Amino acid sequence: MPRKPFRVGRSNTGLGLFATALIEKGAFIVEYKGRRIPTREAQECETRYGSKYMFEINSRWTLDGSSRSNLARYLNHSCRPNGESDLVQGKIIIRAIKTIRPDDEITFDYGREYFDLYIKPIACKCPKCVEARRKARRASRQAQRARPGSKTAIEGTRRTHQGEESPRSSIQHLQSEDWD
Ligand SMILES: [Zn+2]
Repeated sequence: MPRKPFRVGRSNTGLGLFATALIEKGAFIVEYKGRRIPTREAQECETRYGSKYMFEINSRWTLDGSSRSNLARYLNHSCRPNGESDLVQGKIIIRAIKTIRPDDEITFDYGREYFDLYIKPIACKCPKCVEARRKARRASRQAQRARPGSKTAIEGTRRTHQGEESPRSSIQHLQSEDWD
């Protein structure tokens, strides 16, 4: 592809990559670039400094993608992605698994391990999970309406739940600032 078909832009989790042209299903989008370091060393960086741009190639080698020139580091996770990562001739590449239209955010699935470690604790912000939580809230509101007798107890529960949410969103905000 002669010109890169994407730009860095604002997403609901900070920054993200957005298509600037139609990207056909199966097309190469971007290479995940970085310095090759031993996986053992990368795991230490993750534990000690909270490095989040380590892309494991295999049990031996990992790419440190923290450089700003690595545009692929701006790709956000989604549980319903339109891209996927693949290892081709020793390089990590991202390709489209759906037709991606201009202004669509480009995403891929970061994988179970990363999800459990970094995304789950702050609640996944991908459209699929946001929609799932909205549905769950709606269902629980409807269930409450069906049981007016227990109204007071349920309102107490809801207040506690909201109290829990504010520190989480400020953590998310700090992380977004960090990416600028
Ligand atoms: Zn999700």
